[in-house]
Amino acid sequence: MPLRTKQNYIDSIKAMQTNIWAYGEKVNDIYAHPCFKPAVDAIGMVYALSGSEVKNEGYGLFTAHSPFTGDRVSRFLHIHQTQEDLKNRFQLSRNLVHKHGACIGARCVSTSVLNAVFTTTFDMDQSTCSDYHTRFLKFLGHVQENDLAVAGAMMDVKGDRSLSPHEQVDPDLYLHIVEKRPDGIVVRGAKASISGAAIAEEIVVVPCTALSADGQDYAVSFAIPSDAPGILHIAEAPAPNMRRLVGKEMDYGNARYGVHGSTHVIFDDVFIPHERVFMCGEYAHAAKLVNCFASLQRLNTTSCKAGHRDLLIGAAAVAADYNGVGSARHIREKLADLHHHSEIAFGCALASIYTGEKTASGVFTPNPLYVNIAKHKGVEAIWEGTYTAADIAGGLVCTLPTADDLAHETIGKVIDKYFKGKEGVSTEYRIRILRLIEYLTGQGSVVPIESTHGAGSPHTQKITIGQDLAKKIEKFKKDAKIMAGIKGEDI
Ligand SMILES: Cc1cc2nc3c(=O)[nH]c(=O)nc-3n(C[C@H](O)[C@H](O)[C@H](O)COP(=O)(O)OP(=O)(O)OC[C@H]3O[C@@H](n4cnc5c(N)ncnc54)[C@H](O)[C@@H]3O)c2cc1C
Repeated sequence: MPLRTKQNYIDSIKAMQTNIWAYGEKVNDIYAHPCFKPAVDAIGMVYALSGSEVKNEGYGLFTAHSPFTGDRVSRFLHIHQTQEDLKNRFQLSRNLVHKHGACIGARCVSTSVLNAVFTTTFDMDQSTCSDYHTRFLKFLGHVQENDLAVAGAMMDVKGDRSLSPHEQVDPDLYLHIVEKRPDGIVVRGAKASISGAAIAEEIVVVPCTALSADGQDYAVSFAIPSDAPGILHIAEAPAPNMRRLVGKEMDYGNARYGVHGSTHVIFDDVFIPHERVFMCGEYAHAAKLVNCFASLQRLNTTSCKAGHRDLLIGAAAVAADYNGVGSARHIREKLADLHHHSEIAFGCALASIYTGEKTASGVFTPNPLYVNIAKHKGVEAIWEGTYTAADIAGGLVCTLPTADDLAHETIGKVIDKYFKGKEGVSTEYRIRILRLIEYLTGQGSVVPIESTHGAGSPHTQKITIGQDLAKKIEKFKKDAKIMAGIKGEDI
């Protein structure tokens, strides 16, 4: 079964015995939970697009030929053999965000972690005569053949950041080996904010930082099912998720898929059989594994965030149209600026692919300099986009009433009348696009939007500043001409 269906994935996640807690309660039915279902559906949508259901025009992007199974496999589980592979994987993230607008970590991070462990185990076997790579290839075949969702867990909870893992007062603040048995190892610790960990079938764990000989118990990598005994997931609880506990579809902005879906994953003395252990004490290889994972994931996230900015530009443009100011010059310039900054990041990421290199194992990896510049620029563009979109959309982004208000027989009519924008656009659609902007800009508090629009939108201040300059500009020009020795001006 190289490519499976959406339903097959959903059934598999529902059947798992994953120990998940959210809002102080155990989650017994993950697919019924308002803070998990959208994330499962987003992954399901990706399966539907890439799997046997649709042989669409993106099929070449979604799948690749695996030299390890001899079959076509999901691009998310593919080991990058060529520059073209890396480019295709990169492009895929942006294209998919246009459809889900959220996070598909249980598929997305798999590429980075599988490629990083592939290349590191290859190097380890060369230098230490271990058989980690052979073990890993077996695991890779398993996930490729069954088209599994795989999360990647690198980030430890880290405690005091100024201390190394082995220096922490509580040694469990970085995941580590607590026991070595003849048939495997036992690990303890916690990985923080792991995208899609509870809605993936497998979690691949890697170390979080470079390590010295003192930290060799922390040099550990392995694969484990997300519902293995001893694993506990504690759900994220960002403000928009809380609204899902009380609101209606229209209140969420991105109702279908708009949940990130990360969990904090606690490993309470979890047994890992030998065949699933890919690093066990080889501290000298930890830094390379961390850096390879980071470079690959920074490439994916740069593509993903470009997709988010595309959606944001589109949403802000629609909001401006609905407000009747879509053709205003300052609005068009702001959108073009955002597009410009967004594409700088995307272009740097492409440069990292075109200047990338093959590792000894044959994995094609991005140029670390350009991929780090790309990630950095992309994040700047996200924050800038938040401000720009908030500016363009107006203060209602943080003061909108709810879907229940709009549906109410008495106040609904009032809202419909007074929250209208341009003639011909329904009030409901205007509210919907503003809710999407609220979601895309991550506004869980009134403070950023209130400070943007309270006492006047940014352009009104520019108008006043421009009017002041208009009064002074002739004097400024005159002074400049005198200084430049241009004749005809009084000294
Ligand atoms: C939504 C979300 C999804 C994520 N998904 C994943 C995932 O799928 N897999 C995964 O492995 N991780 C994931 N992460 C974790 C992510 O990689 C970390 O959040 C990130 O690396 C920052 O670590 P931190 O949150 O512990 O912040 P910190 O490391 O505490 O950083 C906070 C600040 O402290 C500074 N700082 C930290 N250490 C030091 C030091 N020693 N000296 C000086 N300054 C320091 C930092 O520069 C920063 O300014 C996710 C995070 C989020 C928010």
